[in-house]
Amino acid sequence: MHKSRFCMGIALLTLSASGCGLAAAGDGKDVMVPAEPTMIDFVDPAGIVGLSTRTLTEGDSADSRYVHINYPELPGAPALTKALRAQAERQMKEFHDRTRGDEHLTPRPELNVDWQLAAASPQAVAVRLRTGEYLGARWGNSTRTYWFDPGAGKAVDSTGLLSGKAALRTLAALVKEQFKERKPQIEQDDLRPGGDAFDSMAFNRSGDLVVEFDDCQLGPCSLGRLAVAVPAWRAAPLLSDLGRRAQEGVRAESAAHGGPPRFAPTTSPDAVSSRAGSVDCARVKCVALTFDDGPGPYTGKLLDALKRERARATFFLVGSNAMAQPALVRRMSAEGHLVGNHSWAHRDLSKQASSKIADSLTKTNSAVSAAIGQTPTLVRPPYGAVSERLRDVAREMGLALVNWDVDTKDQIGGRAGESGDIADLAVRAAHPGAIILMHDIHRETVAAVPDILKRLRGKGYSFVTVPELYGSAGMQAGRLYGSGNELPGKQPLT
Ligand code: ZN
Repeated sequence: MHKSRFCMGIALLTLSASGCGLAAAGDGKDVMVPAEPTMIDFVDPAGIVGLSTRTLTEGDSADSRYVHINYPELPGAPALTKALRAQAERQMKEFHDRTRGDEHLTPRPELNVDWQLAAASPQAVAVRLRTGEYLGARWGNSTRTYWFDPGAGKAVDSTGLLSGKAALRTLAALVKEQFKERKPQIEQDDLRPGGDAFDSMAFNRSGDLVVEFDDCQLGPCSLGRLAVAVPAWRAAPLLSDLGRRAQEGVRAESAAHGGPPRFAPTTSPDAVSSRAGSVDCARVKCVALTFDDGPGPYTGKLLDALKRERARATFFLVGSNAMAQPALVRRMSAEGHLVGNHSWAHRDLSKQASSKIADSLTKTNSAVSAAIGQTPTLVRPPYGAVSERLRDVAREMGLALVNWDVDTKDQIGGRAGESGDIADLAVRAAHPGAIILMHDIHRETVAAVPDILKRLRGKGYSFVTVPELYGSAGMQAGRLYGSGNELPGKQPLT
């Protein structure tokens, strides 16, 4: 059952290339040679029906590290989900051990993991986890790619693409040979044929085997990204059965489809709530519920609850989640909520250069615009962290920055809070003009919402989107808002 459901899921990706379960090997003749052979063409996750995302996170509250780990959950691939979850938990624990006592440092120690689909065909699926770690001086990046065999229902690490230890030794020799010519500074001794050095492998669109290494793994960090593309014909004899099918699958997909999703500055109209203006916050008591980090596995249930109570909210979406689950983004917009930008991968933007900030915000707006035909005008900075550079980029892009003045503490120390506590905190701290922080990636938060709506409604509150708190005064690009009461001249209602 799992297998066939999974096949249904990926059928959209393989419309003309192959039937589900049918291996249609590309002969490579019509395949464009990529300009940089170590580039992998990632698959657009929006094509996978039933794909969801999971997030482990920590850090909006004071005195904590910044942690945000995101991974996909593919329908019919429980073994892959299990492997990804185990890896996420392992990385979170190791980061905690490494940064014990450093929670108060500025800038904060940060761990960020996002993902791409390096393959998604009926033959093989691959999830590439990209880790960024900041320990006070610079970002260190590493990658790890897990493979899933839909036929066998098994998940393996990247060495599962190879036929065995002898093949790994031969591959290590081939990689050394390439590096010897191109990067003589590489420490050849570090290229031992173990799973650690060879934990991130995938195929480019020509079927070459791309082997990626972590920053600083093979030599000075200044060498930057280190990767090698082993030509398809040289890699072929080293591959396992899964490896061969994966190589064929990627070639077939590339021959049938164009490149990866493109991100460009959007020209679509500004995002608005379709019911904006139906409440006058100068006359009635308003609060703005805000939900960060989604969409996630509980977002649909949250939308049901908000709909039942005719309450509206503002969703600050992580761009990679929005791109993976456009149907949920469409539902938010259609049901009168406002969609905002919470960066592409939830890295602390206050540590980033202007070009990286602009890239993260542009990609996210592009993903939202592709889903709803409107461009967000609000940004919630990850961890609420703001720099002058971020303000400048936001101003240039026409984006207002929105933090909060009520924290429901629905995630503390990497764990979700209790539903009852979340509801009590929200109700007790709410005031006219409040911007209330919650996260729809937690089951407990979503479970608390019906109670919050009922109790605040009982106190006479209306639930509006963030810009409605400011009425006709509107919101300005580049300005940071933390409460609906901040506007000069506007007195809080009592
Ligand atoms: Zn967040």
